[in-house]
Amino acid sequence: MYFYTLFFETNNSFFYRSKTNLKFMSINIQDKILALRKELNKHNYNYYVLDNATISDFDFDIKLKELEKLEQENPIFFDPNSPTQRVGGTVTKSFNTVFHKNRMYSLDNSYSKEDLLDWEKRIQKILGTTVLEYTCELKYDGASINLTYENGQFVKAVTRGDGFQGDEVTANIRTIKSIPLTPNSDFVSNFEMRGEIILPIKGFNKMNQDRLASGEEAYKNPRNTASGSLKLQDSAEVAKRPLDCLLYQVVTSERKYKTHFESLENARKVGFKVPKTITLAKSIDEVLRFVNEWDTKRHDLPYETDGVVIKVNSLQHQEELGYTSKAPRWAIAYKFKAEQVSTILNEISYQVGRTGAITPVANLEPVELAGTIVKRASLHNADQIQKLEIRLGDTVFVEKGGEIIPKIIGVDFSKRPQNAKETIYISNCPECGTKLTRKEGDAKHYCGNEFGCKPQIAGRIQHFISRKAMDIDGLGGETVELLRKEGLIQNYADLYDLTVQKVLPLERIAEKSAKNMIDGINKSKQIPFEKVLFALGIRFVGETVAKKLAKHFKTIDHLISADFETLVSVDEIGDRIAQSIIDFLSNSASLTLVNRLKKVGVQMSISEESIKNQSDKLKGQVIVVSGVFYQISRNELKKLIEDNGGKVSASISKKTSFILAGDNMGPSKLAKAKSLEIQIISEQDFLDKLS
Ligand code: AMP
Ligand code: ZN
Repeated sequence: MYFYTLFFETNNSFFYRSKTNLKFMSINIQDKILALRKELNKHNYNYYVLDNATISDFDFDIKLKELEKLEQENPIFFDPNSPTQRVGGTVTKSFNTVFHKNRMYSLDNSYSKEDLLDWEKRIQKILGTTVLEYTCELKYDGASINLTYENGQFVKAVTRGDGFQGDEVTANIRTIKSIPLTPNSDFVSNFEMRGEIILPIKGFNKMNQDRLASGEEAYKNPRNTASGSLKLQDSAEVAKRPLDCLLYQVVTSERKYKTHFESLENARKVGFKVPKTITLAKSIDEVLRFVNEWDTKRHDLPYETDGVVIKVNSLQHQEELGYTSKAPRWAIAYKFKAEQVSTILNEISYQVGRTGAITPVANLEPVELAGTIVKRASLHNADQIQKLEIRLGDTVFVEKGGEIIPKIIGVDFSKRPQNAKETIYISNCPECGTKLTRKEGDAKHYCGNEFGCKPQIAGRIQHFISRKAMDIDGLGGETVELLRKEGLIQNYADLYDLTVQKVLPLERIAEKSAKNMIDGINKSKQIPFEKVLFALGIRFVGETVAKKLAKHFKTIDHLISADFETLVSVDEIGDRIAQSIIDFLSNSASLTLVNRLKKVGVQMSISEESIKNQSDKLKGQVIVVSGVFYQISRNELKKLIEDNGGKVSASISKKTSFILAGDNMGPSKLAKAKSLEIQIISEQDFLDKLS
């Protein structure tokens, strides 16, 4: 032991002569390295977060070089979160897809005072209280990012992706110097920080000047450039871009803070860049005051914003409100009035989707709108065309909110050309000529030639292999098109007949990619039944419905034999969905496909394991979950209820079977439960009941 210490010290200390007293001193190298890192982190923080430099660039560089040298000479002290690692240099060829520990939802939008009041009414009803506090934040316009910290150390950064899984871009994010990699310890220790990667307008303009000067084309807008930067392969390139990160949410299971505001204020204190614009509001009127103020002042901000995000401040309220399938109930975005331009409608073309749905598209005289050139806009359906009374040659108003796709919101009738003819909606499929149909209640026209209409055939295969469906690696859109053109596949079941030998002769397919493709296809046989159901491409059966169906019917055979009544009796399955399932599964061509998939080993029933965890113990029961839980999380409780046949409801009513209550259930909820004589069950009793 002694020997080891001695050895360690002589190797990791160095000696120098102090000018004043000529005494030899030894300074531990590790301490020196740590001190330098701390100092440089502080300078970075002052400069990039507080915008207040406390050291000259020259002196900073000297210290950084010194640290670099010490680290190089003493590799055992390597730390990926050292300030020396922020210059980048890692090259990522392809970014790993990883699951988010907590889903990244999108936000519902609102556009008026009425929308906000409706929202407030909904949440007041669920919470059973009218006394609420809100936070108002600007909606930063960039690319969302999720930063993971473990034991106070930055470990991982993942893009939002589809909300369930995103791309891991850790090396690139590490180069953004306003993001603390080792935040001050006076905070929660395991957490995720959510924020927006943005390009401040000044930095963006400077980047464009440089590009133009070197003969390159200018970037279109800060948001796309920020989001594109995250996917650059060379992190040293990312380091050169003036990216910034504004934080808006702390996600943690540590119950240190009671409100959203408090958690963000503390995040700012430990080094995160949380804009000071965040404001508390006690009513929707106060919220609107914030909105109106920033609608004007936003033009003076150093970055772009397209609205305000309003959140319920109490974290316990947030938990009680939970999420819809898309967005938190406890937050809502308020969009600033969109920018508008006018241009001319040159042509209406019609697109055929994978389900045969027809979408009319306006082809416009190109015009610049909010930083991008707009050439096309969706017209949605025949009703929309009629409603707008739009004709070829018309001057139309185009608007762009936060969405990428611009909208036509009206026609300038004063400019209508004299001979403009009324728009007559097409009656036959533009791709295959089949007569279009439109069922009552449907917004869209459909081409019913499912198996003979090219975009439908191609679209269905594309959908089948897509990430949220069968997630087949090694098979992209172009390859599918090639395989289809060469006659190797006509439908998704054909994919499973492909072999390396069959695809190798094709142009542009090398042995390695052929092998990857076949491996990917084989691997997809493990994809769970619910995703298979989604992949089949049954009209109106999206991800959520597919999940419900899989859970309820458990096997494809049960689903095939279900009649209309059985289908609509399933929670959230309406007439329209039920009919579409019946149409699909009674069609002999689709049945053949399903049977072929089954034969090659694609999952056509839910796994043994998920069956094991399911029961009918709570069948027919409607349960409200309220309060704070300690043994298992609220989401797990909800899953338990559903797995055991129960239904989770957000608000207490006569239909409520019982309330699953944790600590701190709201007083008004309690009163309501009492007045309706609804039983209240504790977490422990509930778990006992199920075990
Ligand atoms: P949307 O993409 O329109 O559904 O809006 C949701 C996105 O807004 C989130 O994924 C965030 O990236 C972004 N966002 C920007 N600012 C905020 C904010 N202050 N609070 C929450 N989300 C925000
Ligand atoms: Zn067609």
